[in-house]
Amino acid sequence: MRHRTLLAALAAILLVGALPLALHNPYYVHLVETIMIYAIVLFGLDIVVGYTGQVSLGHAALFGIGSYVAGVLVFKLGAPIWVTLPAAAALTAGFGALLALPALRVTGPYLAMVTLAFGTIVQILINEMSFLTEGPMGIKIGKPVLLGHKLGLSEFYWLVLAMLLLSLVVVHRILRSHLGRAFEALRGSPVASDCMGVSVYRYKVYAFVVSAGLAGLAGSLYAYSEQYISPNTYNFELTVLFLLAIIMGGRKTRSGALLGASIVVLLPKLLDDVELFRWVAVTLAAVVTVGAAVWIRRGRIGWRAAAVPVGGSIALAGVSFVLGSMTDWRLSIFGLITLFVVYYLQDGIVGFVRGLLGLKAGPAGGAEAAQAPPRGDAVADAAPGAGAGEGRVELLAARGVLMQFGGLKALNEVDLVVQRGTVHGLIGPNGSGKSTLMNVLTGIYVPTAGTLAFEGRSIAGRSPSEIARSGIARTFQNVQLFGEMTALRNVMVGLHHGFASTLVDVALHTPRYRREDAAATARAMGLLQFVGLAGLAHEEARNLPYGQQRLLEIARALALDPQLLLLDEPAAGLTAPDIKALVQIIDKIRQHGITLVLIEHHMDVVMSVCDRVSVLDFGQKIAEGRPAEVQADPKVIEAYLGATPA
Ligand code: ADP
Ligand code: MG
Repeated sequence: MRHRTLLAALAAILLVGALPLALHNPYYVHLVETIMIYAIVLFGLDIVVGYTGQVSLGHAALFGIGSYVAGVLVFKLGAPIWVTLPAAAALTAGFGALLALPALRVTGPYLAMVTLAFGTIVQILINEMSFLTEGPMGIKIGKPVLLGHKLGLSEFYWLVLAMLLLSLVVVHRILRSHLGRAFEALRGSPVASDCMGVSVYRYKVYAFVVSAGLAGLAGSLYAYSEQYISPNTYNFELTVLFLLAIIMGGRKTRSGALLGASIVVLLPKLLDDVELFRWVAVTLAAVVTVGAAVWIRRGRIGWRAAAVPVGGSIALAGVSFVLGSMTDWRLSIFGLITLFVVYYLQDGIVGFVRGLLGLKAGPAGGAEAAQAPPRGDAVADAAPGAGAGEGRVELLAARGVLMQFGGLKALNEVDLVVQRGTVHGLIGPNGSGKSTLMNVLTGIYVPTAGTLAFEGRSIAGRSPSEIARSGIARTFQNVQLFGEMTALRNVMVGLHHGFASTLVDVALHTPRYRREDAAATARAMGLLQFVGLAGLAHEEARNLPYGQQRLLEIARALALDPQLLLLDEPAAGLTAPDIKALVQIIDKIRQHGITLVLIEHHMDVVMSVCDRVSVLDFGQKIAEGRPAEVQADPKVIEAYLGATPA
């Protein structure tokens, strides 16, 4: 089904793309060329902005670097196009890495400032390095030569179109693969990404580098298309225009990028040509109004849903008549239209239309999975340590752990030893330090003092993703799912460690990638089945009921093939039947040889599943032993059970 959408999109692009050639008008050819080149930038920018949720104000500069790599190579060395395009993409990706490695250590406004500074510096450098770039004079280059033949207007146009289609397919494949899932996950929940072994920092940089490569490729095409490049083109305004195109078109869709590129290229031209603008605006208003009327009659949309597009398009048509000869108003009107779209259509135009049509946004990822026969027992595969539980050796040992937040000792010299193959309960009143201990064990907090050993090796000071990959999985007290991703894709993020495929495998869909992807999809379905969520595999995680979100988190954690599974209050907020199901799931997990640490307030759950229980109070361990012993301990009764009877 997804393939058909992709094919339809390709066909549409080919058709629309071929139109100006049919018209044989160099002006239109150039316009559509510019749109296609911008679209390549936007495919890449959307990976950073739409998928990983980072801001970049440096993409005009990256685009410029691509242009200048091609320009300089042609101008100084007379390099052929089959050298300049790959060189531009590769070198720009390199610059992207140089920018991303330090910049992506910071987030939000700081990242915006760093990328903005990068943009300014690049522009200054292009201006100053005259020996290479000819400075403000700019570089003139002719249309490229391919195999000894100088490309004509239409031949170069076909080349740009081919590059657009190539970028579209590659980007689409990347975003549907484990790499795309990693990009999306780190936006959904950075902390959960890290704890699934998907290093947030690493994949942010990865996304940025891929994005820069696309900007570089587009930049080099732009140099040939314009046949003249100068530093002023690659300014802050162009960066803003790129971001605007993403926001207007709609993030996380390729059609949104194409639409956004068309809008930012065509709208200013239309506003210049009042006659044409009127014609387009009136036609648009008529089409939208008639379309909305038909749909309202068929009951597919309500009045309210139709109000925004109909009102907007009629207002636009009105503006086109008021506009008259006031060309000075051009920019203000462009701004107003933008404001309207950004304010009323927050998922962009494509997102809005999809909402009307009831389509889901974002790649569904392995829609084939529905047919994949769920494996009988997914967790059996998940437990390499199955059967190793007999030894009763210590799997995890934390000793003398001190965790200080300012003056507060959230953990004060806590020891915790967990035997392999057991379920270890961790209880205590609210604020006693249970979650903090779990965060220390998974590397989210680095303890002020103390030692941590897992399978006899120290894990103190290691990053959450390293610790996760060494075999410790967890869930969170406040559910941390990747909300915009389907249940299936959530679990598949947990399976990320099983992929050896590289970017090249993904782009070419090599047998290795196909094999890994099919295996991961089947495994993920099996895990969903294990927690009873197979029927909801293609539902977005944020739409699941709370209890099922908690179960999904467990399935995702199991995907990591953990030796040790840490559950932070898994029964909180669950109904009685859900709790029963949960207890059964915990039992099954332990039968597979996975060791568990369970933080829980429901005493009946703790009593029925735990082998040993440790009790924390004010950051100190006050008791430890078998559940019945602990329950009878006067200190525990005073500190916890007495205060808040379960
Ligand atoms: P529990 O999970 O047992 O209810 P927590 O481990 O969440 O308790 O919290 C223990 C104490 O540590 C609380 O007083 C809490 O306010 C404090 N704490 C936890 N995380 C932080 C943090 N990042 N910064 C400051 N204080 C924290
Ligand atoms: Mg807690």
